[in-house]
Amino acid sequence: MDSTARRTALVSGASIAGPVIAYWLGRHGWDVTLVEKAPAIRDGGYPVDIRGPALDVVRRMGLIERLEALHVDTRQSTFLDADGRPVAVIDTGDLVGGVRGRDLEIPRGELAAALHSAVPDGVELIFDDSIETLHDHDGGVDVTFRGGTRRTFDIVVGADGVHSRTRRLAFGPEERYHRHLGWSFAGFSSSNELGLAHESLIWNTPGRMAALYAPGDGDRVFAILGFSSPSPAVHRDPDAQRAVVAEAFAGLGWRTPGLVEAMRAAGDLFYDSVGQIHMPRWSGGRVALVGDAAYAPSFLSGQGTGIALIGAYVLANELAARPSHTEAFEAYESGLRTFVERNQAIADVSRPVLNPATEEELALRDRALRDPSSIPSGNAVRGANDSYVLPDYPAPAL
Ligand SMILES: Cc1cc2nc3c(=O)[nH]c(=O)nc-3n(C[C@H](O)[C@H](O)[C@H](O)COP(=O)(O)OP(=O)(O)OC[C@H]3O[C@@H](n4cnc5c(N)ncnc54)[C@H](O)[C@@H]3O)c2cc1C
Repeated sequence: MDSTARRTALVSGASIAGPVIAYWLGRHGWDVTLVEKAPAIRDGGYPVDIRGPALDVVRRMGLIERLEALHVDTRQSTFLDADGRPVAVIDTGDLVGGVRGRDLEIPRGELAAALHSAVPDGVELIFDDSIETLHDHDGGVDVTFRGGTRRTFDIVVGADGVHSRTRRLAFGPEERYHRHLGWSFAGFSSSNELGLAHESLIWNTPGRMAALYAPGDGDRVFAILGFSSPSPAVHRDPDAQRAVVAEAFAGLGWRTPGLVEAMRAAGDLFYDSVGQIHMPRWSGGRVALVGDAAYAPSFLSGQGTGIALIGAYVLANELAARPSHTEAFEAYESGLRTFVERNQAIADVSRPVLNPATEEELALRDRALRDPSSIPSGNAVRGANDSYVLPDYPAPAL
């Protein structure tokens, strides 16, 4: 490989996977452009988990101490029955597979900011813009940006999330790759009326879940209202979204009437169906996808951030280490597909724990909660993380 030829990459999406690609390719001497449709790095959001081999990615980026200082440490999860009575109080690590003292739980916006802080100076950052069209040919990928600019890059990486535009432009409509997991949810912040601290409450009746999540001891909590839905209940209009959720929780108990009211008033409502992305190939021609764009596992796996970090690290380092993008894309996929699929499979194990669909599933779940070592979601996460060792690559030149 001619190490003096500067190869060019356009990375779409600057949240988790995007800055990791930019960091490694930039340090390996590539000319990297990172385009983000939001006007700035997206702040806020719920905490996400970094576990097992994903910790090695942030360690190799020199970020581990900064991230350890941001760790929020959710300690316990209390499951409630239909009337709000406790069914079980368990260590959150047993539920989500985290290892106390090692794994990290970081507010998403703060993780994104930390990853950006590491991106080398030479990386070009473009906010408030996105890819409008892509034309992939032997000599490169011609890109038109929404703002009107036209440029050509050696490769394009889509790190633009579960509803990726890069994926749609290069590989076709989302419906082709989306797997609906049988429920939809609304997420929003709410006042911490119960004074929760470092804990979560999870209330269920068959097919319904209401959760309150207090990563710290502040006066706001993250609330989720989830409900079984046979098909993806995707409504773009926030009023329609609120109406669907309110109808799903009409007449139900515990604090759900108050939560529905809080959802109606929330300025930060996030609504989606719970789904995954499954693609037969994560790349084609000169375009590759990474993170949620290629293999979103859904929040049920708790591993979306981890596999986005790992995928970005492996893809960038394979690109830097190999003479052609074709070989690099193949190595990225063959090295990671089994691990990624194992992480996606966690969602099928977690769904009956978090949102049992029937009385039978709920009774089975409640029995499992009595013996924390048998909670299937925690065991599945630990098994997946133990199954993969982050590869070593040559040190970057810069
Ligand atoms: C409610 C919820 C809870 C979750 N909880 C957890 C958890 O506990 N643990 C965990 O590991 N994961 C969790 N996740 C998943 C996690 O947030 C994602 O898996 C992770 O952020 C994926 O990173 P990404 O960089 O691939 O994509 P994203 O973080 O989705 O980032 C995509 C970026 O692309 C940008 N973008 C979108 N379209 C365009 C465009 N056309 N042009 C340019 N930019 C664009 C977006 O603005 C965004 O900045 C959760 C997700 C949800 C929704």
